[in-house]
Amino acid sequence: MRARKNAAEPDAVKTPVAISHADKVFWPDEGYTKLDLVSYYQAIFPRLAPYVKDRVLSLERCPDGMRGECFFQKEMPKGMPAGTPTRRIAHATGGTSTNYVVGGSLTTQLALVNLGCVAVHVMSGRSASPRRPDWVCFDLDPESGEFAHSARAALHVKEALDELKLLSFAKTSGGRGMHLWVPIRTGPDADDVLRFAESVVRRVADAYPKELTVEHSIAARKGRVYLDPFRNGFGQTVVAPYSVRLRAKAPVSTPLEWSEVKPSLVPSDFNLGNFLRLKRPDPWRDFFKSRQSLAEAIKRMKTA
Ligand code: ATP
Ligand code: MN
Repeated sequence: MRARKNAAEPDAVKTPVAISHADKVFWPDEGYTKLDLVSYYQAIFPRLAPYVKDRVLSLERCPDGMRGECFFQKEMPKGMPAGTPTRRIAHATGGTSTNYVVGGSLTTQLALVNLGCVAVHVMSGRSASPRRPDWVCFDLDPESGEFAHSARAALHVKEALDELKLLSFAKTSGGRGMHLWVPIRTGPDADDVLRFAESVVRRVADAYPKELTVEHSIAARKGRVYLDPFRNGFGQTVVAPYSVRLRAKAPVSTPLEWSEVKPSLVPSDFNLGNFLRLKRPDPWRDFFKSRQSLAEAIKRMKTA
């Protein structure tokens, strides 16, 4: 393990939540600690907040960082502060329900980090009406493992969305993939949003069959980029913009300008170690001001 200079000193960081084992190393190769993660989320929270505010979160807990196991948990964990907002949602199959954590406050976010939540997984509907998304998400997964392929695929999907007169926003996933989000006015049910996303990815994959696929089976993808519409299904999640990932170099799921979406981009160049110093303007600053009518886009798709 390399020793790291400038590590956040436990005594120097004031947080609204007590952090246990603050000096635990989460990323041994880089030397980043749990407190580094806390400090990052505390500083970036104004940017993250719009994507978690009043939204149901799905938790992925990795209490020992890169060195340990992770587990997914939907039910609010013990150890969250009293008064943490929650939303109970009945299971589709009936009978049981889950009491989810609802994001939006810095206290909630840092308490989750304290419990080992590195990434922020979020649903597309607000907690008051979870079945009514205000974005459509396209998850681009390169079977080749090469980010360059994701970047090219993203430009193809953007072109199709442009044709439908839909403004789209791009971000790195933090891994080798990309996420494209389209802000929409609430109204359509999650099932309709999913059907729309499925039609879009089918169209784009048909136009670029050598590069793109909608084949769910990994064997059938044959090195192409899988365009996954299923993140739009009710109850599914995707990582929020500015979420850190528990991967080598601690990459950040980074909002991009479309002009930055290039095959040569290296997603891990945006990471926990340098993100705050980069002082990037927010390429998604107009996201919620740009909500669009999905019904109009569906009409255009039918006539195209
Ligand atoms: P990559 O670039 O590696 O694809 P990604 O974040 O897009 O990164 P995916 O495996 O494509 O990873 O998953 C897409 C999203 O689905 C994730 O961002 C996460 O929110 C959610 N997800 C994936 N696996 C699970 C799981 N086991 N439980 C809950 N949510 C999951
Ligand atoms: Mn993905």
